[in-house]
Amino acid sequence: MDELVKAILKDDAILVVSIVDTETVEHARRIHDTYPTATAALGRVMTAALLLSHNLKDSQRVMLQIKGDGPLREVVAEADWLSRVRCYIKRPHIHLGLKDGKLDVGRAIGRGMLYVTKDLGLKEPYHSGVPLQTGEIGDDLAYYLLKSEQIPSAVSLGVFVDSDNSVKASGGFMIQVMPGASNEIVDYIENRLSDVPPVTSMVLDGYSPLDIIKRVAGREIEILGRRGITYYCPCSRERVLDSIASLGREEIEELISKGEDIDVRCWFCGKSYRVSQEDLRGLLVQDNQG
Ligand SMILES: [Zn+2]
Repeated sequence: MDELVKAILKDDAILVVSIVDTETVEHARRIHDTYPTATAALGRVMTAALLLSHNLKDSQRVMLQIKGDGPLREVVAEADWLSRVRCYIKRPHIHLGLKDGKLDVGRAIGRGMLYVTKDLGLKEPYHSGVPLQTGEIGDDLAYYLLKSEQIPSAVSLGVFVDSDNSVKASGGFMIQVMPGASNEIVDYIENRLSDVPPVTSMVLDGYSPLDIIKRVAGREIEILGRRGITYYCPCSRERVLDSIASLGREEIEELISKGEDIDVRCWFCGKSYRVSQEDLRGLLVQDNQG
């Protein structure tokens, strides 16, 4: 089962969050019909958003958006307080040649920006962005955490795509140095990291998120929380109608003048909603009343 586990090193200010999300990323691959390089990028962005979701609560959500000048153009993932995730990729049919035996996510993303938007239930969502460092997502997320949230971090992400194009392994971990951490413990963790196998190897070997944390920590840990991970899209007919209503009266009248029902497809889950002429006229009536 896909899961997120969060722990601290016992008596030390080092936080480790670890994820295995193979099934969820495979589910996303099927929804978006991604080719291998695009699958790897999508999976890494999903895992990154899920890592950021570890401390959300009460209806809060976080969106991670990658915009680059490479062939993928844009990859977006949103995770919520229950570590439910959904995602979108602008160009799913991208596959590039391997680089050092790995899917070349960095080249597929190119140069650009990483944006994080957090809806924390306040009046305005928190929004911040940093330039991409490598386009490999893990390094970029660590850079974001340091620059925008002032948290020294290390992030490792990996997706392994099988020869039949399905996702055979996906996961990641994030280490954060909390206030009060000693130099010794930071040196210790840096040393450990140089010796930890790639995430994909660990997941392929059957490591659970907890196994990954133990492998990274190498000493006693205290578990702070664990949550199941699922693909979930909260779209609904009502939300689709709301979004059409927000286009404004003129746009809606134009749609009515065409005299046809329209199909609106959700970008995140692919679900289609048929909006009839009657629905559209209903929106204008609402507009008159409200
Ligand atoms: Zn949807």
